[in-house]
Amino acid sequence: MNKITIAIDGFSSTGKSTVAKRLAKTLGYIYVDSGAMYRAVTLYAMQNGFIETDYFNKDRLIAQLDCIQIGFVFNEALGFAEVYLNGDNVEKQIRTLEVSQFVSQIATVSEIREQLVLQQQNFGKDKGVVMDGRDIGTVVFPDAELKLFMTATAEQRAQRRYDELVERGDEVDYEDVLKNVQSRDHIDSTREDSPLTMADDAIKIDNSNLNLEEQFELVYKLAKDKISECN
Ligand code: C5P
Repeated sequence: MNKITIAIDGFSSTGKSTVAKRLAKTLGYIYVDSGAMYRAVTLYAMQNGFIETDYFNKDRLIAQLDCIQIGFVFNEALGFAEVYLNGDNVEKQIRTLEVSQFVSQIATVSEIREQLVLQQQNFGKDKGVVMDGRDIGTVVFPDAELKLFMTATAEQRAQRRYDELVERGDEVDYEDVLKNVQSRDHIDSTREDSPLTMADDAIKIDNSNLNLEEQFELVYKLAKDKISECN
């Protein structure tokens, strides 16, 4: 059976990764969370003092790009691959609101994007991959057989992200989360290099009124249909 490439793009906190993870598991495909890679670079920049509020030393970060090793290691118990930064498991650290507040700025840097895109293309070189992000269908895999673009209102997305953060035990304010979602939408959609935009051949899914199960059923059907078309 020929495997295909599935690109899932969309705005922040649209539930892309939840559906992508489950889809990959059901199909027996690899799942890659490309946003986690930008988050890991952001964490590295924060740890080294290259980025703070109103300060970003882009040149020092670019000079150290070769020192940043990002990897994914499958965790059997959790059922998905966790992110490692230079050998350390940073899965939890990269999901904080603080990292979210800097990540879109980091993701505007072309030198960083270039390196991460090459790694992402390498993960998908044998097909059989579900990758989620902002530029997967437009830049990373422009030839992906199935491209989805997920969207929902900013308020709904902020509520979902807020619930996730609270469930992890983080102390956050809903208004801060909403502001972060809106600010990332703006930076991601207006940056010069690889802005978040829907590929011409992508299928748009507004999941404002879909629960997780309905969303999965829809996406799974689209994937199955496309796989049969390609076999
Ligand atoms: O998907 P997630 O919300 O974790 O992504 C974090 C940030 O990483 C996004 O807001 C965006 O700035 C950046 N990103 C990107 N390109 C991707 C994936 C994520 O620019 N393919």
